[in-house]
Amino acid sequence: MPGSFKTEVIVLRSIRYGEADRILHLYTAERGRVNAIAKGSRRPRSRFGGRLEPFFRLDLMLHEGRSELCTVTGASTVDGYPDLRSDGPALDAAARACDAVLRLLDSVEPNRPAYNLLCRYLALLDEGAGGDLVNRPDLRAVGLAFRLKLALAAGFSPELGSCARCGERDGIVAFSGSSGGVVCGSCEGGGFPLSHEAHEFMVASLARPIAELPEAPDRALRQVERAISETLAHHAHVHLRSVA
Ligand SMILES: [Zn+2]
Repeated sequence: MPGSFKTEVIVLRSIRYGEADRILHLYTAERGRVNAIAKGSRRPRSRFGGRLEPFFRLDLMLHEGRSELCTVTGASTVDGYPDLRSDGPALDAAARACDAVLRLLDSVEPNRPAYNLLCRYLALLDEGAGGDLVNRPDLRAVGLAFRLKLALAAGFSPELGSCARCGERDGIVAFSGSSGGVVCGSCEGGGFPLSHEAHEFMVASLARPIAELPEAPDRALRQVERAISETLAHHAHVHLRSVA
């Protein structure tokens, strides 16, 4: 039904269109994935200013007509994450996160946990950006924790509590993407070896806030990335770019 609605959004992608317009790929708090056109937004004195760029968190007024694209009729900034924008690695991590949301959450169903997670992750990257190396998050570890939480929010979380094939709780030695989780020594065929540290990191990532990650050696993080990639490839048919 045509009409206007207001929603909070994160701009996932902003594409130049025609003479002076932009097409926006949005993740919204109220309606999941929405695409919109912002007419005249590239004119020098556009009322939208510079805020229709990737990673901006905005309050948008959108008009829904007969077209598949909504039309942006009003925009105000909730958070521009300014420090993130001047930090190359943080910017790259934000781009990979938005790309993962685009691939994994393509539905118009609202998914508030996924929306809140994306906002928290961008805020964390923004806080850690800039010169302060002491408080800087390990971008690879935090990027993997984000992906695991996103997989959970999208309904594709791997089984971590017991063997995904037989239910045995002890003797977990491997991970199988096709089985959808960790597997025990008797069921490991088709899986790849998973260290105790990698298993612990995944369990902790899902149990704790994203800012409170455990440390994990690089080898364990590589196993975690492989576990997430194979789970999403088998069960969501989605292939994500590498995390860092
Ligand atoms: Zn088993």
